[in-house]
This record gives sequence, structure tokens and C-alpha cells, in this order.
Amino acid sequence: MQLDRYMTLCLGHPAHGYYMSRDPFGERGDFITAPEVSQIFGELIGVWLASAWANMGSPTTFNLVELGPGRGTLMADILKASNVMPGFGEAARIHLVEMSPALQALQQKKLGASAAWHDRFAGIPEGPMLLVANEFFDAIPIRQFEKRGGAWFERCVGAEGIGLTPAALDGIQGADGDVIEFAPQRSQIAEEIGERLVSQRGVALIIDYGHLQAAPGDTLQAIRAHKYVGVTECPGESDLTSHVDFEALGKAIAPGQCAAITQRAFLLAMGLEQRAAILTAKADAKTREILARVVSRLAGEAEMGNLFKVMVATSPGMATPYPFGKI
Ligand code: SAH
Repeated sequence: MQLDRYMTLCLGHPAHGYYMSRDPFGERGDFITAPEVSQIFGELIGVWLASAWANMGSPTTFNLVELGPGRGTLMADILKASNVMPGFGEAARIHLVEMSPALQALQQKKLGASAAWHDRFAGIPEGPMLLVANEFFDAIPIRQFEKRGGAWFERCVGAEGIGLTPAALDGIQGADGDVIEFAPQRSQIAEEIGERLVSQRGVALIIDYGHLQAAPGDTLQAIRAHKYVGVTECPGESDLTSHVDFEALGKAIAPGQCAAITQRAFLLAMGLEQRAAILTAKADAKTREILARVVSRLAGEAEMGNLFKVMVATSPGMATPYPFGKI
């Protein structure tokens, strides 16, 4: 089967899918995401969203949308921090796009029943929109093609593992040995977001690991208990992800209306160090040590800081929000 079919089954099969019945996050789980590293991550995003809302003219109701909310930690921190902006919380209608019943239950516990759940972005009702997605697109399946002996082959999964089948990829350049990745499902969701930003006013903030410019390379990986495992080693028992090609994502959302920077640049511009300093001043020695670790983990050049990127997409005609450069 093609890789995207394999990933769809491994991650989302109703009975055996990786996300469908478990909470994979944290030290005892398989991996840790930025909102689980520190509340500061969600606080800075909350402040950014509150300011985006004010820049949109503070609509009296709007859809606050999150794709793939995991444990609901990011949304909870966003709501706490955005309290600094009077009216934001009352105007927000929370819409969560989540395919996993187990994670929906965790989100409900954390955020209360006031949120609405959807299994796809297309289900979000009309209205002004602020959207956030952290480590969502890396979990959306991809297809891979490999060039061998001057011809393209598709990497497919069979009983023996990954093998190659001839593919018709006419007109795509590549050197022998190159692997290129396409993510039709990612592009589909991105196009839907882009269309929504045209029909309704809004902004989308997309955070993930990946690259700003498309480049060949095999980025598919499987993680279990904080260690890499083979992609076909334990289907449904490991997290399967791949790097997000932000160039392709930006083109699918809205050509000319997206801008992206590193997570490091975003968090430092939003006041990561200042916020950590305020918390440090009130903290005991152990917490101070943790806070120092958190800053380098989220923004360190050799940690998440450069690997992760933050992309903004806006409705046509809206000014590019701080701290992104001119679109
Ligand atoms: N944003 C969270 C969780 C990231 S893990 C965090 O940063 O901690 C990916 C999340 O996306 C999980 O909640 C997973 O269940 C959800 N997800 C993955 N693929 C999905 C899909 N196709 N549709 C809806 N939700 C999906």
C-alpha cells in the first residue's frame, strides 16, 4: 500500500490507530511537545492571538480553532493568557478538530464542555477565525518517491517492509537516490484554511518541525518511548511523522499571504526570556533551573528553536502581524 494509506491506518485506525486510544505525551509516553514543555509556550501564543483579535477590530464573536489539540494544554494556556485582553474570552467560540476519542475526552476534561469538537476542518462554522495548530501537520500522511536508475518509483509498504513500485512522475527533476515527499492530505487541509481566510476574516498560526524551502530528503520517522524505531517495525504502536514542507503548505493555503520564521525568532520576539525572568524572580532554586532548561529547549538553536518553524496566514489585505516580516 502507498505510504499515506499506511500512515492513515497506523495513526487513525478506529481500533488499532496510534492516536485513537492512548495519551502519547510526556516523559512516560512517547514524545513531548512544546505546550507540554512549559506553560510559557501557550501564554505567548495566547498574547499573540489576543493581539490578532484586536487588530481584526475585536469581533464580538469569533471561532477560536485548534487543529490536533492533544491534551488540550495549549488551548488552556491560551485562554488563561488571553485574559489580559478584555472581551477576548467572551467573544471566543472554541472549536477543536480532533480525530481521537481518547484525546477528545482529555480535552473535554481540561477545557470543559463549552468547546465544540469536529473530526475535520471543513466542519467549522462560518465566522471570523483565529486558528492555531501545533504539531498537527507533521502527523498528516505523506507519499514518498525515490529516483533509481533515472526513473521514479513510489515507496510502498508491503509484508516485507518498504519496497519500490514504478511511478509516473513526469517532469519532476531529481538526481539518482533522491527521495521526494508529497503530502496531498496536508495540501487539502491547507487549501480549505486558505479558502476560509478568503470568505471570512481571520489569521492562522501553524507551528511544526520542518523546512522553509522544499528540498529532497526522507524525513519520515517513527518514535516510541522517546526513541527512533523502524517505520514498519511496530505499526499502530509508534508515532509516525514527517517534516512539514512550509513552502508547499504556504502555497496551498494562500499564495502570497503566508510568512514563516523559526520558532526561536518567534518566541524571542514574543518575550520568552522576559516571561521566564518574571517567573524566575518568584521561583525556588529547582524551578529556576527548570525555567532555564525550558528557554533553551523551546528556543535553543540546537534544540527546538531552529528545527521548528512558525507560519502565519492572513485574509487578503490584512497587514502582516508582528513579528513576521513583510509577506
Ligand atoms: N497539538 C498538540 C498535539 C500534537 S499531536 C501538542 O502540541 O501537544 C497530533 C494531534 O493531532 C493529536 O491530538 C492527534 O490525535 C491529532 N490528529 C492527528 N491526525 C489527525 C487528523 N487527521 N484529524 C484530526 N486530528 C488529528
